[in-house]
Amino acid sequence: MMNKAYKFRIYPTAEQEIMFTKTFGCVRFIYNKMLEDRLTKTPAAYKKVFEWLKEVDCFALCNAQMNLMQAFRNHKRNPKHFRAPHFKSRRNRQSYSTNNQRNKIRIENGKLRLPKVGWIKIVAHRKIEGIIKSVTVVKNPSNKYYNPSNKYYVSILVEYENQVLKVVPKNFVGLDYSMHELYVSSDGQVPNYPRFYRKSEKKLIGIHRKFSRKVRGSHNWEKFRCRLSKAHERVANQRRDFLHKLSAQLVERYDAICIEDLNMSAMSRALSFGKSVHDNGWGTFTRMLEYKCKWHGKHFIKIGKFEPTSQTCHVCGYKNLATRDLKVRKWCCPQCGTYHDRDINAAINIRNVGYRRWCGN
Ligand SMILES: [Zn+2]
Repeated sequence: MMNKAYKFRIYPTAEQEIMFTKTFGCVRFIYNKMLEDRLTKTPAAYKKVFEWLKEVDCFALCNAQMNLMQAFRNHKRNPKHFRAPHFKSRRNRQSYSTNNQRNKIRIENGKLRLPKVGWIKIVAHRKIEGIIKSVTVVKNPSNKYYNPSNKYYVSILVEYENQVLKVVPKNFVGLDYSMHELYVSSDGQVPNYPRFYRKSEKKLIGIHRKFSRKVRGSHNWEKFRCRLSKAHERVANQRRDFLHKLSAQLVERYDAICIEDLNMSAMSRALSFGKSVHDNGWGTFTRMLEYKCKWHGKHFIKIGKFEPTSQTCHVCGYKNLATRDLKVRKWCCPQCGTYHDRDINAAINIRNVGYRRWCGN
């Protein structure tokens, strides 16, 4: 069984919108209250004290608890990467998730049925294949002033049986993470990765400057807050669109994609480089590659972070410790005399380790 998520616009009526607002509020309340009480009680216990919690979808409250528990677990496991859970604010993106039980959630005649809300107009532009497991309702913070019709959307998670057979891989590719280019491939290819954030930076700074001059909470302040989050959303959308196309091309072209499982300390070291990393969607990109490989029966191979991929000559296997220094971009192998580009050599090593891994299985 496999999971897939679909994203659709929805157009609630004024009444349904009130129910959404209530549910977002209750979910936020439960989350913040449990965070304050350090998860000592369950949503049921709060319902006895705060009667109004009963008005909304109970799954939404349970899922809020689960999210908080997950946030605590993540933070405990890896405090450097996941910061401690913090209180949720009304001003950010609002959402709640509900589960499908006894077919209570379904789509019929251009409408989506949700518990406690009823039938909502939906634009289901793709056919859903599989069983609906859960639905997340999301409200965008940016569109209040600019496009009120695109304020809400749902993300529908379905489970389906995967009937795709795994292909026997003929061509392997290795991708070496690169901070500025996203990656360098073992075929020597570099994606033409636009720096979306850098490109829009001036515009973002301009809006932010105006925003910061407004009186907090005023009508103009609210207007510029929306404009700012809209601009940020645009950058994120551009980047995501690009990564989707790029990952689709790679999965189409190669049967097996090998990447290095980057460790967090390398990433956090990279964080000191600031904006370049801010503009880099490596994590998102590798997740896209992984699930798209799965869809098409292709192979996604993550190799260990301790393989000395950038120091080993891919021709003769000589280990050149001098190349541990990131400044060394090109080097000549003292043993076999091959002239290496650091990144391409690393990508070829990643591909070769991935290939051996696949042969071993
Ligand atoms: Zn060599």
